[in-house]
Amino acid sequence: MSVLDAFSLSGKVSVVTGANRGIGRALVTALAEAGSDVVLLIRDNAGAAEVIRELEALGVTAVAVTADVTEPDEVRRAAGEVMNRLGQVDVLVNNAGACIHRPALEVTAEEWRFVMDVNVNGVWHCAQEFGRHMVAQHSGVIINIGSISAQIVNRPQWQPGYNASKAAVHQLTRSLAAEWAPHGVRVNALAPGYIKTEMAAVDSPEFKRYWIDDAPMRRYAMPSELGPCVVFLASDASSFMTGEVVVMDGGYTLF
Ligand code: NDP
Repeated sequence: MSVLDAFSLSGKVSVVTGANRGIGRALVTALAEAGSDVVLLIRDNAGAAEVIRELEALGVTAVAVTADVTEPDEVRRAAGEVMNRLGQVDVLVNNAGACIHRPALEVTAEEWRFVMDVNVNGVWHCAQEFGRHMVAQHSGVIINIGSISAQIVNRPQWQPGYNASKAAVHQLTRSLAAEWAPHGVRVNALAPGYIKTEMAAVDSPEFKRYWIDDAPMRRYAMPSELGPCVVFLASDASSFMTGEVVVMDGGYTLF
C-alpha cells in the first residue's frame, strides 16, 4: 500500500453534524473527495439539496438525515436511520457548535445552557449513539471539533461559556479515546484557530488587532484548509493515533 492509499476513505460511511454550512460543509466535502459516502446530520434539510448534488457529483452516496444534536431521542433515531440506509458508520465528525459573545456578568442562564447544550451535550449524544454502533462493529473513528478557545482566552470579546464548553470537548475526547480504544474506536479532536464562517467575524475591523495581527501567520484560514487534516484523522493514515487534540491555528497559541 502506498502512503497516499492510507488516506483513502473509499467504502467508508462518514457522518458530519452541522454539514450544511461553514466548516461542516467543507469537512463533508473533503471526506467525500477522499472517497467516503457521506451523511449530513443537520437540523433542517430544506437547503440541503444543493450540497447533496455537489457531493454526489464526486461519485459518492450523499444523504441528509435530520436531528437537533441537543435532543438525545432525535440523535438516537438518526443513528438508527444511518444504519438502516447505509448499513454502517465508520466516521463521525462532531462539528455542530454555537458561540455567544458576552461578558460573564451579563450571560443569562438560558445563554449559558444553550452553548453548553449544543457544544457539550450535542457532542456527547452523537458520540454515544454513533459510538454504540462503532463499538458493536469493533471499528470507527470520531473526530470532535474543539477549538483553541479550550486552551486560550479569546479577546477582545468575552465568551466564557464557549471557552469552557470547548475545554470539555477536548477532555471528553481523551476520555472516550481511552475507553473505546480496546473496542477498535479511535477518538481525536481538531482545534481550529480563526476560520472564516458565519460564527467568526474575521473581517470585522475591531477584531483584526487581536485575531489576525496577534497570530504568527497574520491571517485567518478558510474552512477548506481543515479538510485534509480531517481526512488524515478519519483514515488509516492516523491508525496509531487516539486521544489527541490537533491544533490548526496559524501559530496563534504559540504566544
Ligand atoms: P457556523 O455557525 O457557520 O455553523 C454552525 C453549524 O452548527 C451549522 O451547521 C448549524 O446548523 C449547526 N448547529 C448548531 N446548533 C445545532 C444543533 N442544535 N443541532 C444540529 N446542528 C446545529 O459555525 P462554524 O462552521 O464556524 O463552526 C463549526 C464548528 O467549528 C463549531 O463547533 C465551532 O465551535 C468550531 N470552531 C469554529 C471556529 C471558527 O473560527 N469559525 C474556530 C474554532 C472552532 P444550522 O444551519 O441549522 O444552524
